[in-house]
Amino acid sequence: MLSFDGLGIGGGIAIGRARVLESSRVDVPRYRVHGEGLATEQARLEKALAQVRNEFAQLLAHLPVDAPAEAGALLEVHRMILDDPALARAAHDGIAAQAWNAEWAVWHCASQLADQFAELDEDYFRERGRDVLQVADRVMRALSGSRSSKPPEAAEPVIYCAEDIAPADMLGLRHAAGFAIDLGGVTSHTAILARSMNVPAVLALGAARDQIRDDDWLILDGDAGRLIVSPEPSVLQQYRARQAQDRQQTELLRELVRVASRTLDDCEVELMANLEHPDEVDQANEVGAAGVGLFRTEFLFMNRGLEPSEDEQFEAYRSVVVGMEGRPVTIRTIDVGADKVIEPHASVNAPNPALGLRAIRYSLARPERFLVQLRAILRASHYGPVRLLLPMLAHGHEIDASLSLIEQACDQLRHRGQPFDSQLPVGGMIEVPAAALCADYFARRLDFLSIGTNDLTQYTLAIDRADHEVASLYEPFHPAVLRLIAHTLRAARRADKPVAVCGEMAGDCEATRVLLGLGLTQFSMQAASLLRVKREIIRADRRRLLPVARRLLRAQTPQEVDEVRSALRGL
Ligand code: PEP
Ligand code: MG
Repeated sequence: MLSFDGLGIGGGIAIGRARVLESSRVDVPRYRVHGEGLATEQARLEKALAQVRNEFAQLLAHLPVDAPAEAGALLEVHRMILDDPALARAAHDGIAAQAWNAEWAVWHCASQLADQFAELDEDYFRERGRDVLQVADRVMRALSGSRSSKPPEAAEPVIYCAEDIAPADMLGLRHAAGFAIDLGGVTSHTAILARSMNVPAVLALGAARDQIRDDDWLILDGDAGRLIVSPEPSVLQQYRARQAQDRQQTELLRELVRVASRTLDDCEVELMANLEHPDEVDQANEVGAAGVGLFRTEFLFMNRGLEPSEDEQFEAYRSVVVGMEGRPVTIRTIDVGADKVIEPHASVNAPNPALGLRAIRYSLARPERFLVQLRAILRASHYGPVRLLLPMLAHGHEIDASLSLIEQACDQLRHRGQPFDSQLPVGGMIEVPAAALCADYFARRLDFLSIGTNDLTQYTLAIDRADHEVASLYEPFHPAVLRLIAHTLRAARRADKPVAVCGEMAGDCEATRVLLGLGLTQFSMQAASLLRVKREIIRADRRRLLPVARRLLRAQTPQEVDEVRSALRGL
């Protein structure tokens, strides 16, 4: 029995037989061609590129109905990479100038590009280098004549073990019980797709694959990030029991969809969903979300050349509003910058992107483009209740400037004769300590507040949320963060304005009693967490939580916070 630790992407426990996928990058053939051979290599390359182009077009045109929402966008990225001159033309040039065979020309150019990405300072770009290698892999498979790596279906659950799996290949493996992958980080497309397919996956396993043979029994714990090869019978039995328990829990949780979200002392708690893509509306509806508390609109702007037009944005926002059937939808204006990049060079050159031209600062620096988004959101408000949310506010003048642009967008729509909700509520994210400390001012000026605990933790503790090296210091339960949350909740209550938490903390069951105890009654989270949080809510009694939670605000250290949390758990 062997055990490896990697990066768990979630999805629970998988138990199945190993199927090891070989990479076509091993032993890339390398030789020189001369004379007429050069034209033959160029023609082989062109044919392979055309074949892969066609494969992508087919995949996009016939996306399986059960494919996750992000699949189309991820395939588009790979299609763009395939057509990028930095790969296709450079490979042709390699054949002409260096007399390389087509396989080597493709591999050489792709590796060079990936190396350039690897030198950049951010995980996001390193992951894009992997995308280039995945596309090159597919071209090389076309050159060698094999169409795809889709293995035959098996009778027993199969866990795929690979150096890396491109999104296009992953789509063909939707029957997989799990994925064990050598490479990868949390922001990789492989991770995103595995997460939305809800299949257990562990990434960054190093060379684990070398120790695995086809048909070995494997246990994959996607939550703990562990892979066990050829487990002993007692271990297998233990994991089978846990797997059965997980399934039972999931069934029981489904029953909660129809149960009202109220604490034992009859306090109504609103549970809303965070969306990153319009297709996620179905998941929000399946778990009975009371609305959308945070619709991140960045997806529309990332991984593409031109910015989306007003109509394209409007259609995306409207589809969510219509899909939520009368329940409120909170649309946040774009929050790009830092790790969410749409202009790579601008961001890379910024001395400190997390403190740079991010979120509302980015939008206000480009008022014409901001107006396009504001008009699109306003137009969507004609189809159901919409609330507009401004990200990363720190200054009062950012509210002034935003409200004046919103007014301008309203005038433009009136002039065009296009309908919108003239009472559209405008709220602000509290995710910078300055905004939390001055929350009374923000509460007075805005219609509602939403606390972004992800950034609030990052900026309070000066910990880059995307930097693995300081990940252990990222502590949302730090007394300083809890005091800022409590202060914001109090300020909103005094101003009689609604306030929600929409950062990851809202979906963390370990935080539910703490947040309830601090007085929170609106939570917004990934739809997948909603029923678990609801289970916590219906078992909690706020009358007992509130006095104990007050002690949190006197805590000086995370250890003291832990003591109060244990006390809250026992209530
Ligand atoms: C947050 O910062 O908590 C938040 C919800 O915003 P994002 O994660 O999109 O930065
Ligand atoms: Mg944020």
